[in-house]
Amino acid sequence: MKKVNFSAGPAILPQEVIKQAAEAIIDYAGTGLSILEVSHRSKEFVATMEKATALVRDLFQLPDNYAVLFLSGGASTQFFMAPMNLLNEDDKAGYISTGSWAKNAIKEAKAFGKINVLASSEEDNFKYIPKNYEIPQNLKYLHLTSNNTIFGTQYHQWPESPVPFVCDMSSDIFSRPVNVSRFDLIYAGAQKNMGPAGVTLVIVKKDILGKVSRYIPTMLKYETHINGESMYNTPPVYAIYVSMLTMQWIKDNGGLEAMAQRNEAKARLIYDEIDRNQLFYGHAVPEDRSQMNVCFRLHDESLEAEFLKRCAEKGLDGLKGHRSVGGFRASIYNAMDLEGIQKLVDLMQDFEKEKA
Ligand SMILES: *Cc1c(COP(=O)(O)O)cnc(C)c1O
Repeated sequence: MKKVNFSAGPAILPQEVIKQAAEAIIDYAGTGLSILEVSHRSKEFVATMEKATALVRDLFQLPDNYAVLFLSGGASTQFFMAPMNLLNEDDKAGYISTGSWAKNAIKEAKAFGKINVLASSEEDNFKYIPKNYEIPQNLKYLHLTSNNTIFGTQYHQWPESPVPFVCDMSSDIFSRPVNVSRFDLIYAGAQKNMGPAGVTLVIVKKDILGKVSRYIPTMLKYETHINGESMYNTPPVYAIYVSMLTMQWIKDNGGLEAMAQRNEAKARLIYDEIDRNQLFYGHAVPEDRSQMNVCFRLHDESLEAEFLKRCAEKGLDGLKGHRSVGGFRASIYNAMDLEGIQKLVDLMQDFEKEKA
């Protein structure tokens, strides 16, 4: 049975991409070699890297003063690499605590500067995105998590801010257009919405670098990777290749405007059902609901296991909610189509007829 993949990450990729990725394992770009065994210095892979970089630039309409990097270590490495490269010990940065990933980012940043947590929604189990807090002008940056994968909230409007943003976009990168000029740095682990696990995209404004006095290990310095064009050391070749294919798929399907429209329609379908169905309710407050990760619960928790079993029987995979929210989480990234969500909605309706 073909399954519908609602997993939060590693997550669904477009079927076309998976087919092309499979072909390249046998014969990469007509080289007669598998992509798993080619040199990262081969002209074919250099072309792949250039294409991947160009696609990021093209999709985001990146200004020239931003660099695009493909690094290892996941978004979790960026939690410390960003403050290590951007803050001197006495520099201040603001952070907004909107979930577990934001908390990890805060914890790591504290080792490198004076971290000011300006707002948090933790007291309400991160059901909402905090608003209306003061942002001091003397901050180097304000760190945001654009989409909170675990709690199902998302910024639909960026805060009014006198300082630039540093943003973890791991779970909604390429889901909608972004005005990059407001950001000093954007990072995203690929495995939610842009490719397989193993590579992290970093977009950084070049002139903010080189201003800290501490020693930064070579591999953890953004300039190393800018100068090396993400090939200072062996990059994650296959993950970059598949991310490139996924970005090409996004472009072929209309780019970020088209993704945003599709994602809005998809999210509407499932949230409308959650609001209508007597058995279910949503975790996040409606105005901050994520278009990527839909967290919802049953009023009667004793039915949870049975609903998950029904989902599994229909081939709907990866719907169990994160333990810190409970219930269910439908991750409906770019590659998820309306049809997949409709199957879940049908099941919710059948379940209601039976149980309500
Ligand atoms: C998954 C996730 C992370 C962690 O990413 P890794 O690449 O596993 O380190 C960080 N932030 C957000 C928002 C995530 O969804």
